[in-house]
Amino acid sequence: MPDPTLDPADWGALRDAAHDLLDRSLDRLQSARDGRVWTPLPDGMKAGLKAGLPAEGMQHFELAERLASLLPYGVGNTHPRFFGWVHGAGNPGGVLAEIVAAAMNANLGGRDHGAIYVEKQVLDWCRAMMGFPADSGGLIVSGTSMATIIALKAARDARIGPESRTKGAGGVRLTGYASAQAHSCVARAFDMLGLGSDALRIVPCLEDFTMDLRALRGMIAEDTRSGLTPFALIGTAGSVNLGAIDDLSGLADIAANKGLWFHVDGAFGATAILSDRVRPRLKGMERADSLAFDFHKWLHVNYDAGCVLIRDRDAHLRAFSERPDYLAPSARGLAAGNPWPVDFGPELSRGFRALKIWAHLLEHGTDKLGAAITRNVEQAAWLGAKIDDTPGLELLAPATLNIVCFRYTADGTADPDALNEAIVIALQESGTAAPSTTRINGKLAIRVNLTNHRTTRPDLDLLLSEVLRLGGELGTQ
Ligand SMILES: *Cc1c(COP(=O)(O)O)cnc(C)c1O
Repeated sequence: MPDPTLDPADWGALRDAAHDLLDRSLDRLQSARDGRVWTPLPDGMKAGLKAGLPAEGMQHFELAERLASLLPYGVGNTHPRFFGWVHGAGNPGGVLAEIVAAAMNANLGGRDHGAIYVEKQVLDWCRAMMGFPADSGGLIVSGTSMATIIALKAARDARIGPESRTKGAGGVRLTGYASAQAHSCVARAFDMLGLGSDALRIVPCLEDFTMDLRALRGMIAEDTRSGLTPFALIGTAGSVNLGAIDDLSGLADIAANKGLWFHVDGAFGATAILSDRVRPRLKGMERADSLAFDFHKWLHVNYDAGCVLIRDRDAHLRAFSERPDYLAPSARGLAAGNPWPVDFGPELSRGFRALKIWAHLLEHGTDKLGAAITRNVEQAAWLGAKIDDTPGLELLAPATLNIVCFRYTADGTADPDALNEAIVIALQESGTAAPSTTRINGKLAIRVNLTNHRTTRPDLDLLLSEVLRLGGELGTQ
């Protein structure tokens, strides 16, 4: 009978494999600029990932090869010419924290141990960064989607009282409000909370893609007249399409006036509070009842890492705290240190995400992280101006934050939507650059998102020259 423990029979072999993998992982990151942006997984490797469930294990050196073979096939967001969606570019130092997190194997659902104090420290830093009170509630989560569900659960329960946890929303028909540019995770949270996504009213935007506050007031009044119960107002600090920032002070005023819970989706935009250039535009965010934001986007902590802050800590606790006998708190021993993270969210067992955030902030400090954000904002402004000046290219909206939407328009293009989509796909498949697409006022756009600390001006020059070349080439086919 072999030794049933999972510890290695040969620790030396594990160490050799670990040192080798560490070097290969760092090599990969050190050469992040080299080679293709996106490299699709080769067919042979796809086939290899349809193997049967292994009944027998393998040696560490063999496992290390299998692991290392995956290194080139990420989404491409570590490359300076990845411009798609809103992805952070990651950070080599993050490898260090992941090593320690794996070795500790800590469960952050609760209890009194070192990892919990690191998460508490990180949350205190989040409150300080975002201008939230020192006694507000908070939790480190997978990302803004989860943060939004937690925040709106607290909002729902605060509005209809603790019975909502056992009886559901009952006869109360709650409605919430977000702009037409709000992220889909808000409607999904309404769906998951049993409110129905139709209960999220979509408020039209002004020409600058921010919420029309006059329309908002009208919609709240009309819903109230028809017997509905408005309860939440969701502001966007940095929309996915164009980086639009709602008038957060104006929204905070309306929420205070109408007794609504004011939630801000600041997935990437909230962290721009570290940039001297952007900070003034986020005024009003510090008045939110709850704030959802990510560390894995514009702060470049390796995936995944987000945060929810809830001003009224008791409201946060009332929405989630529930402790059966086997999780009973105590004043001393391992079950001390209450409340626990499980009292602030739906998950019990939780990994040590806070460690990589803590290490990232210690390694870089907020000044440098803010400067990287400022550089992206300057790059977007420069790119927008350059597009405006380039015959054959059309800027589809002013570049006010970090996102530039434009398209190739040469005379006689029969179907500009199809052509620009083809240009984006060709760029991605060629490995040269990876923008994504969206629609701005109905027009298909080449969308360039700059949340990348590795991007430089020559990368943007190359992008534009390739768009012009491909536009000419594909447009005449
Ligand atoms: C990315 C994003 C989200 C969703 O955040 P995840 O971390 O992907 O769950 C929500 N809102 C905005 C504005 C985003 O950019």
